[in-house]
Order: sequence, then C-alpha cells, then structure tokens
Amino acid sequence: MSARAGIVVTGTEVLTGRIQDLNGPWVADRLLELGVELAHITICGDRPADIEAQLRFLAAEGVDLIVTSGGLGPTADDLTVATVARFCGRDLVLDSGLEERIAEILRRLTGRRTDIDFESLRAANRKQAMVPEGATVLEPVGTAPGVVVPGSPTVLVLPGPPRELQPMWWTAVETDAVRQAIAGRTEYRQGMVRMFGLPESGLAETLRDAERDVAGFDRLEITTCLRRGELEIVTRYEPDAAGVYQDLVALLRDRHGSAIFSEDGSLVDDQVAALLAGHTIATAESCTGGMLSARLTDLAGSSAYMAGGAVCYADAAKVELLGVPADLIATHGAVSEPVAEAMADGALRNFGADVAVAITGIAGPGGGTETKPVGTVCFCVRRSDGATLTRTNRLPGDRSAVRERSTTIAMHLLRGALLDS
Ligand code: ATP
Ligand code: MG
Repeated sequence: MSARAGIVVTGTEVLTGRIQDLNGPWVADRLLELGVELAHITICGDRPADIEAQLRFLAAEGVDLIVTSGGLGPTADDLTVATVARFCGRDLVLDSGLEERIAEILRRLTGRRTDIDFESLRAANRKQAMVPEGATVLEPVGTAPGVVVPGSPTVLVLPGPPRELQPMWWTAVETDAVRQAIAGRTEYRQGMVRMFGLPESGLAETLRDAERDVAGFDRLEITTCLRRGELEIVTRYEPDAAGVYQDLVALLRDRHGSAIFSEDGSLVDDQVAALLAGHTIATAESCTGGMLSARLTDLAGSSAYMAGGAVCYADAAKVELLGVPADLIATHGAVSEPVAEAMADGALRNFGADVAVAITGIAGPGGGTETKPVGTVCFCVRRSDGATLTRTNRLPGDRSAVRERSTTIAMHLLRGALLDS
C-alpha cells in the first residue's frame, strides 16, 4: 500500500509565467520526505471551472490527497475554497470565531491608519471566514486561513504566497484529516551519487547491466539527471532494500570509480570549501566574467581563503594586470593553454595566493575560428609549489551554458589539485 497525491497550483500570474511557481516544487519535496508518491502537479488560472476540472482529473486518478495553492485572498477573484467546497459536496458556512480572529489580524495590520474603511475591509474578509462544512481550519499565517476537507480524496487548501504556504504546511500535516489521508505512505530512504566527466550514455549502459546483475534491482527507484555538467543519480528505496542499493553503489564504483565525487549528497562546492581550509586562492578569468570568483565567494569560509580575482577580457588587460607575456598571446592566441598557465601565474603572484585557477575561452557567438570554435575553453590550476593541471575542453551550448559548464569544470579541477596536495 502507498499514498498518492496531486498538487493543483492556481493563479493566472503563475499560469502565464509572470510568477515562477515555487509552491509546486516545495510541496513536492515535502511529500517526497513523507513517503507520499506525487502523481501530478497541475497549473491553472483563477477560473473556478478550470480549478474544478483539475480536481476532477486528480480524483479520477485515485489520489489520496490533493494539495492546492493560491486563491484564498479576500477579493472576488479568489475562489478556491468555494470551488473545493462545491467539488467535495459541502456547503460553505461562516466560522464566526475565525471571522473575529481575521478581524483582529486586520486591526493589527491597519493599525492607526485612518484612510481605511474598516467595516468594508471586514466585510471583504468575512468571505475568508467561510469554510466548507466539516473542514479543519488552518489558522492564517497572513490573513488567509487554509482548510483541510476530509474525504476521498482529502483536499488541503493552502494560500499562494510561499511565505504563508510554507509555515501552514507544517500545521496541516499534523491534522488528523491529512494524517489519515496519507496513512498508507511508505517510509523511503534516499541515496545520492554524483559523478563528473561521465556521459549520460555511459551511465545508462551501466544501469542496464545493473538491471541484469543486481538482485532485487526493481526495488530501487532510480532517477538520473544532468545538472551543470554533473550526473546526479538519486535512488529511493524502502529500508529493507538497503542491501540492493549498496550493491548498486558497489557496481557504480567498480565501473566509474574515478568519475564519482560524492556519495553523501555533498556538492563539489562543499568539498572545495572544505579542501580550501588553510589555503589562499586567486582566480583569473576571461570568458566566465567572474562567475568562478562569485561561486568561490559563495562558499562557507570564503572570507578566509579568497585572496582575489581578476577578470581580463582584452589582451592588453591580460598583459598589464596579469603579466601575461604579449608574445605568448601573439604566438598561441589568447585562448590557449600557455596563456591559461601564464594567467594562473599572474594570479598567484599578484594576490599572493597558494593556488590559482585561470579560465580563458570562447563562450560567445562570433568569437570562434576553425581551429578554436565557440565553446573552446582552456583551464589551468596551479599551486605555488608548481603543481599544475592544464586542460582544454570543447563545450556545447550557448554562451550561458558554456560559462556555467566552465565554472563547474574549474571547480572539479580545483578539487583534484587540492586533493593531491
Ligand atoms: P492573497 O491573500 O495574498 O491574495 P492568495 O492565497 O489569494 O493570497 P494568490 O492570490 O493566489 O494567493 O497569490 C498571491 C501572491 O502570492 C501572488 O501574486 C504571488 O506573488 C504569490 N504566489 C502565489 N502563488 C504562487 C506560487 N505558486 N509560486 C510563487 N508565488 C506564488
Ligand atoms: Mg489572491
């Protein structure tokens, strides 16, 4: 047995893309943590007929719980509660205690302002105190209360603003109505393996073998995704399938040991931050325009190890600010490994750091040549003891993809250089 849920995100501003939906993904994560299987997230505007159609769809799919977000405000276009009540076959009744509590909140919010007609405000908010008969009221975080309407499915109605929805969620999952709706949930564990430098096709082949060789493989729910050039393998399993997961990880290590950099959920950024303790670092960037430096300064403890960074696009800037020999640029071109190494030397020297990372490449359209097409990027990580990692990559995608990927590659090279020291 297991519990299934669906999420209905409402709001014309979300449907049209003017506001990016934060509630669907957030509630999805919470359901996952609870062991509730999420079947669908649907998005519709504020029209009651559309909201009702989505409720009907999810109910027909047999979900145990529907979570809605949005449309709880005092204005006439906020109709979610009335729509849900009709859908669940319940009348709306005035909860006078709730009405009083909303009035109290409004009094506090409006304070001593005299330009507000308090009575009309209160009338508008009487609407928010109308709740479906038999529903559990979730006290307002802002001014809008939420409700849980028990049934099959149970419907949990939450407000739209994330700062209101999120605190109310925790109250909602404690209610009997929600607990009962998700009583069939399964306890899951989740494992995460992150890899770098392995194409997705390579992993797909290994997973096909695993299907054949790992006993109980079908007890694992595996999701792989490519993010910023890293492969992320997330596996969910019930506690008694922990051994199966261990066998899978053993196979991954066996096949792709050198590509695996994390088995505990840590990001390369976390690892670099830890490895940088006791070091000082400097950056020299051209095509990434300071993105690596920004990423490094985001890390915990960066104020201690970040010595500085230079962003140099023009050849003259590389010469003057980083001391790259002009004839080196003339001979090899600005996007070349010798220039990347000279940039790293300049950063080490200028900032007095003990490790430096340099990136020089062609990210934008129009800058490429036949031998160095757009996406050609040279990297160098050099330590003050002379140890050096230099490489050139050809990266696919548009400018922002090349820049993002370059930053990630630099982080991995840096990790490698620091692990070696
Ligand atoms: P209010 O009382 O604020 O009107 P409400 O429950 O009626 O609350 P909505 O009218 O649907 O909520 O949305 C109010 C605002 O909350 C939106 O304009 C938007 O800024 C934010 N919001 C709503 N839904 C979402 C969402 N899914 N993701 C991110 N922000 C959202
Ligand atoms: Mg509203």
